[in-house]
Parts: sequence; C-alpha cells; structure tokens
Amino acid sequence: MALQAITLSIDPIFSCDLATPPDSDAACAFCGAAAGRWAGHRYLPAGFQSSATACALCHLPQHLERPRIDEEAVLVWLPEISQPALNATMREIHVALQALGEDVHADAVFRTRPFALSNLYYARAVLADRRGAAEARAGTASPRELGMALLELSPAAYLRRGELLDGLRLLPLGQFFEGELDIYPEIVGFWRERAKITPTHLNGAR
Ligand SMILES: [Zn+2]
Repeated sequence: MALQAITLSIDPIFSCDLATPPDSDAACAFCGAAAGRWAGHRYLPAGFQSSATACALCHLPQHLERPRIDEEAVLVWLPEISQPALNATMREIHVALQALGEDVHADAVFRTRPFALSNLYYARAVLADRRGAAEARAGTASPRELGMALLELSPAAYLRRGELLDGLRLLPLGQFFEGELDIYPEIVGFWRERAKITPTHLNGAR
C-alpha cells in the first residue's frame, strides 16, 4: 500500500465522518498501522477524491481545529523524521509504556521503577525537547495557535503550507479526547493487543 504524506492542516468544517468508523483491521493510509476501532475514521483529505482512513495519531496533525488539540499534541521541530514515522515511533513508545502498566500521557508519573523505563523515557524526552526549536522557528509550539494562523492564510498560501511548515511536526502527547473522555488508553490497548506486547518482550527497554 502506498502511504500518503501528512501535511499539518486545519479542517474548519470537519469533513471527517466520525459516525462511520471502519472495521478495526483497516490500515491507516498514512502510517500503515491498523487504525483501530475508535479512531479509524473515514477521512477525506483536502484535494483528495477518495476517502482515506487515519489512525488517531495521523488524524491529529490534520485536524488542528480539535477543541483540545493543545492537550493532545505539541509542535516540535524535527525535519529529520517524517510525521508518519514520528507517529509510528510514538505508538511504539506508548504501547511499550502501557505494557509496563504505565499511563501513556506525557505528564503521567511513572509507577514502576524508573530504570525499567529509562530508554522509553529518554526517547520521548529527546523528541519533546524539540519543542523549543519549533517555538523559535514558528513563534509557537501550540497546535491551536498554528491552526488559527493557517486559517488566516490566503487559499494560495494555504496550499503551499507543506513547504512553509516543512520540518515542523506534531508530537502526540498520549491523549485523544472524545468529548470530555480521553479514549487514547483504549486506542493504545487495541494496538498492544494487535502487537501482543507483554512486559517480557520489553527487556530491551531496560
Ligand atoms: Zn496512522
């Protein structure tokens, strides 16, 4: 399957069809992972004629209008990693953390012995550390503020946003809200089940 690129986008009319989730085995058109039952929404990217399925992590950068996007993600400067590759990396980190009995939210306090989590912790911290570079280059690390700025662009400039924002990525923070409810732990649980990850598989993370 040829994967589609992700461009940071805002969708003020919310063209997703949230009422029609695909079956849980549908592959995300952007990162290739199983989209999962909860977040694999039909999605019609701007300029595309046919709909695509996005997993929760690939959905976020294309919907900066989400009401709680600033709790769900932060902007980072990471030109060396594509958005889908970053999403795949964060998925692996979140799946591994959950398998160890930890909350996946970026601000969660780890419950287990810290050394067991050091690689996961530092991998996530290194990525989050690029937030300052995003602020320096884009003037903000807030996805909401970037979304508002995108709304101000002329149609011609908006079409060129991929070029303008090249190197800027959306780092998922381990939350995904459906109304007031954070459903991300369930989404990660689905991925973990698919990967059959258990703590005994994680010796390499210690
Ligand atoms: Zn995806």
